[in-house]
Order: sequence, then structure tokens, then C-alpha cells
Amino acid sequence: MLLQDQVAVITGAASARGLGFATAKMFADQGAKVVIIDLDADASQAAASQLGGDHLGLAANVANEQQVNAAIEQVLAKYGRIDVLVNNAGITQPVKLMDIKRDNYDAVLDVSLRGTLLMSQAVIPTMRRQRSGSIICISSVSAQRGGGIFGGPHYSAAKAGVLGLMKAMARELGPDNVRVNAITPGLIQTDITAGKLSDEMRQSILAGIPLNRLGDASDIAGAALFLASPLSAYSTGITLDVNGGMLI
Ligand code: NAD
Repeated sequence: MLLQDQVAVITGAASARGLGFATAKMFADQGAKVVIIDLDADASQAAASQLGGDHLGLAANVANEQQVNAAIEQVLAKYGRIDVLVNNAGITQPVKLMDIKRDNYDAVLDVSLRGTLLMSQAVIPTMRRQRSGSIICISSVSAQRGGGIFGGPHYSAAKAGVLGLMKAMARELGPDNVRVNAITPGLIQTDITAGKLSDEMRQSILAGIPLNRLGDASDIAGAALFLASPLSAYSTGITLDVNGGMLI
């Protein structure tokens, strides 16, 4: 078991078909005590109970400092440590450049970028004290390509910001043996993509993917497991592309 008795906090993990829940499941199967943090308390608790065993589901908006800190206090009260944080919560808005309004911009940046900062700040004192920890930031191929199919330009900007923040955190926290890395998923089949791709769109997307398939949530969970576990003990500040070869 790669994560035996490790405490792993995963944001945005209540959605059954999402990347966060698939990661929660894989971590639980590897022996972790998993904390699911999402917007709705009932949904978070229901998702945590589906994992079986000693897990926790909590409500917090990752962009709200008070809610984030209150959730992390509850995690520490129950488990006393935090070994892994996966900053997975994110929202998309498929609008074009000139259609971005201040509200859209604020919402998208708040969840991905401010949320990653606030959640990381909330767990860092504990990880520093432990002198160990792994923070994993879920970015996107949209950050690298400058655009995606389902996210607007502000989404690309938020996810590129996540990569910069990840690298800065990795530099600062390295001496404390806290590792910080990112995953840039390509197009993965989740609620974001379900039912929204015509056959024509799917074929044209597949033509740009050498592995000739969309990703599964478990493809991202596997990458997250690698970055969470001692298998990646000498990696910090890296970006793991999981996109079927889209950027070759
Ligand atoms: P999803 O919509 O299925 O899940 C996102 C979860 O985040 C939901 O459960 C939602 O309730 C939660 N959430 C939203 N705002 C929140 C907030 N303020 N606080 C706490 N939780 C919040 O999405 P997904 O496809 O599983 O995506 C997960 C992550 O992966 C996102 O960051 C997304 O941008 C990124 N990503 C997804 C793809 C893809 O193809 N699906 C590709 C690249 C990157």
C-alpha cells in the first residue's frame, strides 16, 4: 500500500464522475484516510462514505479563507496530521475573449488560483512541522496550449497561474521536505465533457491525440498517486502532462 495511514485532503472531490473522486478512491484503496472537501456538506459526506472505512467529508468553498481554515481545523482535530493535499476544485466557462465579464473572471480565478493558495496556506504549517508533505495542483493542458475546448481564456490564465504558484511554493517549501507538483490533464471524460461532444467534435479532437482516446479519471488519479507517494520522493516543482500525447 503506497499511502498506508497517510491523511490526504482532496478538494472538489464530491462529484462521482470527477477527477477528484477517482483520486479519492485510488488513495483510499492504497490505505489513505481521505478528506473530501467540496461545496456541499451532504455531497461531501456521501462521497466520503462511498469510499468505505475511515474517511471524512466536509463543506468549504476553497476561495473562502474562513471556510478553508475551519475545514482544516476539523481535519487536524480528527486525524492530527495532513500528508497530502490535492488542489483539484476548479470551474470552467467556455466563453470567448471579448465575452469575459468581470464576474466570470473573478469566479474562475477565485476557485482555481485563490483556492489553491488558500488551501495550501492552510496545510503548510502542519506539513512544515511534520517535515513532510506532498501538495498536488491540478492545472490543465489549457494552460500550456493557451486555450481549451471547454475553458475560456480566463480559465487558461488561472491554470497557468496555478503552475507559477506551484513552482514558487516548491522552491520555498523544499527545505522543509514539502514537495509541490502539478498535473496538467488533457481532455478527460467527466461531467465537464459528458454529452457535450458531437461525433464530429470527438473525431477532430482524437486526431490530435496520439493515444487516440480521451482520458479516464483514473489516468489522473494514477498520476496523483505517484506524486503523493514516496515513488516521487525526489520530484518537486514538476508538471506531469497526462494528455495522451496532445503536446508532442
Ligand atoms: P467536476 O466539475 O466534475 O468537479 C469539480 C468539483 O469541484 C465539483 O465537485 C464542484 O462542486 C467542486 N467545486 C467547484 N467550485 C468549488 C469551490 N469553490 N470550492 C470547493 N469545491 C468546488 O470537474 P473535473 O472534470 O473533475 O475537474 C477537476 C479539476 O481538473 C478541475 O480543476 C478542472 O479544471 C481540471 N481539469 C479537468 C479536465 C477535464 O477534461 N475534465 C481537464 C483539465 C483540467
